[in-house]
Amino acid sequence: MSKSTHFIPISKPFYSGVKNSSLGVAFNQATIPPLHSNVNTFENELEGYFDNESQVAALNSGTSAIHMALILLGVSKGDEVICQSMTFSASANPIIYQRATPVFVDSEEDTWNMCPVYLEKAIKDRITKGIKPKAIIAVHSYGMPYNADEICRIADHYGIPVVEDSAEALGSRYKERKCGNLGTISIFSFNNNKIVTAMGGGALIVQTAELKKNAIFLATQAKDQADHYQHSTLGYNYRMSELCARFGLGQLRMLENRVEEHRSMHAFYRDIFSEIQGVTVFSEPTETYFSNHWLVAILVDPNKTNGITKFHLQSAFAKAHIESRPIWKPMHLQPIFEKMPYYGADVSKNLFEKGLCLPSGINISHDERIRIESIIKCTFAK
Ligand SMILES: *Cc1c(COP(=O)(O)O)cnc(C)c1O
Repeated sequence: MSKSTHFIPISKPFYSGVKNSSLGVAFNQATIPPLHSNVNTFENELEGYFDNESQVAALNSGTSAIHMALILLGVSKGDEVICQSMTFSASANPIIYQRATPVFVDSEEDTWNMCPVYLEKAIKDRITKGIKPKAIIAVHSYGMPYNADEICRIADHYGIPVVEDSAEALGSRYKERKCGNLGTISIFSFNNNKIVTAMGGGALIVQTAELKKNAIFLATQAKDQADHYQHSTLGYNYRMSELCARFGLGQLRMLENRVEEHRSMHAFYRDIFSEIQGVTVFSEPTETYFSNHWLVAILVDPNKTNGITKFHLQSAFAKAHIESRPIWKPMHLQPIFEKMPYYGADVSKNLFEKGLCLPSGINISHDERIRIESIIKCTFAK
């Protein structure tokens, strides 16, 4: 393949901050349980990120962290859990793992995240029907914080805990408060495609040492204190591995720089689209919000672009070996969830119809930026 047509993925993992030698050390340490393991250090550093006001349990994925959050909140068979509809399926699947029912809620226009008005409608209606929701799962989509003041106010008013799905929002802030610290229980993901990766991993953020201890107990097969293997509770194999923790540590220490680079990709697209009618780049609605801009997304309104749709752009990109991808298809429109209760209008559906994610990796070169820019300009010049 010639130099000018190599493939540009939507996000390629960037493995800086990791030296081969440190992985070698991790491997040696991993064979004997060390006093201060990489997993403990990883947890301590994340706790430091929150000024040691929160407790962190490192797990093997963001999905298992959401599952663990629901277990700690006592979600079980027959319960209902409210979940933002416009998200990745991993936000909602753990509700089913607990044999509870998801109740989906629409997005608001400006943050694309859970709409407080429909959230309250959903809670009231479920209570009228005799089932008070056991938890609320709210998501910071693409790194954009949800409207935390309103979501928390409603949750507090009805006494329902919030699981903050911060899988995409490490480094984002709401009113100078760090995402990952806005829920009753919060989670991060360190999967390959996230802003900081551990080659797979997750974290649970809780407010007491006791909850952390309990999470780790459950995540390591719930072994009772005894000479033999004794179990009186259902356990899980959800702990982060030593190698992943070592890998993640190197990356975690580069967080600030990562966020800056992602925000610079966002500014790059803002510049290009400022001159193109009918396309908006997903951006912070007010100064209350600070997004890490994990993935840059745009909305294309064909009524204002002379009929050019996101599909035109997507196929022009594909021909040039550049990846782009529609934004999350809302959960209430997914075959697996279509029979579940839903509260809202068509905000998330409309976003899905117009929304496209663009290459947002921080290791996109100057030449690659030029290729991307020229495809965009050609497509909308028609
Ligand atoms: C990635 C992601 C998850 C799941 O995290 P994994 O580590 O991949 O299991 C959950 N929720 C959202 C919003 C995500 O983007």
